[in-house]
Amino acid sequence: MNLPAPEELCRRAEEALIRCGAEITDGGGPLVARTPITGTELRTVTASSAEDVDRAITAAHEAFLEWRSVPAPQRGAVVRRLGQLLTEHKADLAELVTLEAGKIPSEAQGEVQEMIDICEFAVGLSRQLYGRTMASERPGHRLMETWHPLGVVGVISAFNFPVAVWSWNTAVALVCGDTVVWKPSDRTPLTAIACDALLARAARDVGAPAGIHALIQGSGDVGERLVDDARVALLSATGSVRMGRAVGPRVAARFGKCLLELGGNNAAVVAPSADLDLTVRGVVFSAAGTAGQRCTSLRRLIVHSSVADELVERISSAYGQLKVGNPFDDGVLVGPLVNRSAFEAMQTALDKARADGGTIVCGGERSGGSDAAYYVSPALVRMPAQTSVVREETFAPILYVLTYEDFDQAIALHNEVPQGLSSSIFTTDQREAERFLAADGSDCGIANVNIGTSGAEIGGAFGGEKETGGGRESGSDAWKAYMRRATNTVNYSDRLPLAQGVEFT
Ligand code: NAD
Repeated sequence: MNLPAPEELCRRAEEALIRCGAEITDGGGPLVARTPITGTELRTVTASSAEDVDRAITAAHEAFLEWRSVPAPQRGAVVRRLGQLLTEHKADLAELVTLEAGKIPSEAQGEVQEMIDICEFAVGLSRQLYGRTMASERPGHRLMETWHPLGVVGVISAFNFPVAVWSWNTAVALVCGDTVVWKPSDRTPLTAIACDALLARAARDVGAPAGIHALIQGSGDVGERLVDDARVALLSATGSVRMGRAVGPRVAARFGKCLLELGGNNAAVVAPSADLDLTVRGVVFSAAGTAGQRCTSLRRLIVHSSVADELVERISSAYGQLKVGNPFDDGVLVGPLVNRSAFEAMQTALDKARADGGTIVCGGERSGGSDAAYYVSPALVRMPAQTSVVREETFAPILYVLTYEDFDQAIALHNEVPQGLSSSIFTTDQREAERFLAADGSDCGIANVNIGTSGAEIGGAFGGEKETGGGRESGSDAWKAYMRRATNTVNYSDRLPLAQGVEFT
C-alpha cells in the first residue's frame, strides 16, 4: 500500500482550511491534529482553558438574550447562508473529514451533503415551530401551547461524524432561537475550525450576532465544563456509552436537559425469503463502510439457518473484493481505523470471539499501512451464540453471524443487547416485515426493511433506545428538544370559572 507523504497531507489540510476562511495560526498545542491515513501530525491546535470556556458560554448566553427575540423566519437566514457556504465549500470540508477521520471521499462528501440537507430542513422549520390549541373545558377561555427558545446549547461530538452531528444540532438550535457552544472530538479539531469559520461568515453576511456560536477545543475535561455549567440549558452529547454514563447524571444533577446519542450494536435479521443480492449489498456497505466506524454500522447478522451458509459465502467473497487503503486512492472503499487503540480493541474482540467458539471466516488482519497507521480487512465471524463480546460495541469492522430457526428467536436475539440504535430486516414476507416494525419487534430507534442499518436521511428523527441514550436529533419533531414549551390559558370572558368545577367563593 502506497501512503502519501505526511507533508503532502499537512499541505492539503492547510489549504482546505484557508479556502474555508479559517484563521491559520500556529496553535502551539497541546492538542495535536493527526491523520489516520499515515498516523502523523497535521498541525497543533490550542486547547481551550477554563477561562476560554467560561468566556464562550458567557458570550453565547449574552447573544441568546438578543437572538431569542429575533423572529424565527429571520433566524433562518443565517442557516440558509450557512447552507450556501457549505455547498460552496463541500469539497474543502470533505477533504478535511477524509484527512482527520479517514473516510473515503464519497462518504466524506455524503457527510457534508447531510449538513446542507439539514440546513434546508431547518430553514423550512423556521416557519413551522408549531404549537397546538386545545379545547378548553371553561367557557370564554383559550388553551394553547407556545414553544420558546431554550438557551445555550452545548454540543459535544464524536470523531466519526466530525461535521454532520454538529450541523444537525446547530442548524436546528439556531432556528429555534438558541445559541451554541461546540466541543468537537479532540481527534478532529481542524474540521471544527473550518465549520466555525463558515458559520461566523454566514452570521456576518446576514448581520446575526457573532455570539450565536462558539468553538471550544480539547478533550473530555473541556467537555466537562459544558456539562457542569448551569447556563448550558441543553447538553447534546454524541459519543460512547462510557461518555454518556459520565455526562448524563451530572447534567441531571443540576436539572439541565440532556440529549444523548451513544453507541449502537446494530443487527440485521435475514429471513429465508430475503432477496440475497440486495441483502449482500446492504450488509457489506453497512458492515464494512467507514471501516465499521459508524454508530449505525452493522455488527450482528441474525440469519435463518436455511440461508446462512450461502449468505456467509457471498459476503466473504464480496469482502475479498473490497479495496482497503489510502482513502484518497481511486477504488478504495475501506480507509484506516482511527488509531492504534481502535486496532487493539478489534484484536481483543476477535480473540474473545475465538475463545467463545467463534470462527473467523475472513479478515481481521492488518492490511499494510505504516507503524502509526492502522488498516484492517473487515472481519466476518461465525458465532455459536450471542456471547458477551457480541453484546458489546467494538468500534471496528467486525460482523458477527448468528443463526436462528424461528422468527421469535430472531427477534429475541436481536433485542437481547443493551444498545438500541439501528436495525434492519431483509425479507420479502410482509408479515415478518410488519412484525419487525411492530411494538413487539425491533426495540431500536431506527428499524428498516430491506436496507442496511447505516445511512439515515435527515428527514427522520435520529437516535436510539436503552444504552444508546434515548435522544433524537435531526428531522421530524426532534426540534422540540431544543425549545421549551409553555402552556397558556387565556380568559377572554368577564367571569372566572375554575377548572374541574371547583367553587371558591
Ligand atoms: P468518545 O465517547 O470517546 O468521545 C465523544 C466526545 O465526548 C468527544 O468530544 C470527547 O472529548 C467527549 N467526552 C469524553 N468524555 C467526556 C466527559 N467525561 N465529559 C464531557 N465530554 C466527554 O467517542 P468517540 O470515540 O469519539 O466516538 C465513537 C463513539 O461514539 C461510538 O461509541 C459511537 O457509536 C458513538 N457515536 C454515536 C452516535 C449516535 O448518534 N448515536 C454518532 C456518532 C458516534
